[in-house]
Amino acid sequence: MIRARIAPTPSGYLHIGNVVNFAITWLWVRQNKGHLRLRIDDLDTQRAKPEYIEDIFNTLKWLGLDWDEGPQSAAEQELQYSQKRRKDRYDEWIAKLIETNRVFACTCSRKQIEELHVCNCRQKNLPLNTPDAALRIYTPVDAIFVVNDIKRGKTEVNLYNEMRDFVIRRRDGIAAYQVASVVDDIDFDINLIVRGEDLISSTAAQLYLSGLLNQNSFAETTFYHHRLLKNEQGEKLSKSAGSVSIKSWRESGDKPEKFYLFLSSFWGLKEPVLSLGEMLEQIQTGLVKLES
Ligand SMILES: [Zn+2]
Repeated sequence: MIRARIAPTPSGYLHIGNVVNFAITWLWVRQNKGHLRLRIDDLDTQRAKPEYIEDIFNTLKWLGLDWDEGPQSAAEQELQYSQKRRKDRYDEWIAKLIETNRVFACTCSRKQIEELHVCNCRQKNLPLNTPDAALRIYTPVDAIFVVNDIKRGKTEVNLYNEMRDFVIRRRDGIAAYQVASVVDDIDFDINLIVRGEDLISSTAAQLYLSGLLNQNSFAETTFYHHRLLKNEQGEKLSKSAGSVSIKSWRESGDKPEKFYLFLSSFWGLKEPVLSLGEMLEQIQTGLVKLES
């Protein structure tokens, strides 16, 4: 059975690009009578705000999107499902990664990385417990991974070029996204991951981490890296760039039909659909191909 998840990060109000991803995931799962988990990536406590967590539930409700597993409210998220409760599990992985002798400490500032585009701490051999240091993992020059993608087929990603020596633990001691995400996907038996095409290098990073620890189930995961929605300038939508939020649609009285009409045109459907259910029906009857 397909087991997929939607994994919003509560670092801002959800925008249309986020909900396109949720809709695609939901459609794949429901079309295949699979199982959908809601996972809220709230590990970054500085950015995760209660109003953003609340917004996730409000937006999913507005869309008419249901899920089978995971929190049903912000209170449940905090009490039972928060990633903060899984810190020990992530730390366990980081400890095992350290045992592979590929981890090194990095004291570069964000500014240095932005300016130099590369960290040279590999050669410095700093103690791993250096105060305020992030931990990075060494990526060999030949780190090329083959991603199993539903639409693209087998896709090669050169991890060395895309995400050389990426961070596995941040300076504040919190596990990096790459670690938390792969650990959760393995622990919750996820076998289909639907994400934007900008995250294909993350997929390769996670294949690398799971492979190092012989967690081979992750390599069996099916991926779908869908095309991204762009703004009028052709840039990727993002919360930080102030893309229009679904919250502002809701507050100005817009109905979910507005989103489904938009999705219909994004997919180039001849007959626009007005709800997820309608879209699912058209996919099941073969009128529409799950696209994007
Ligand atoms: Zn560095």
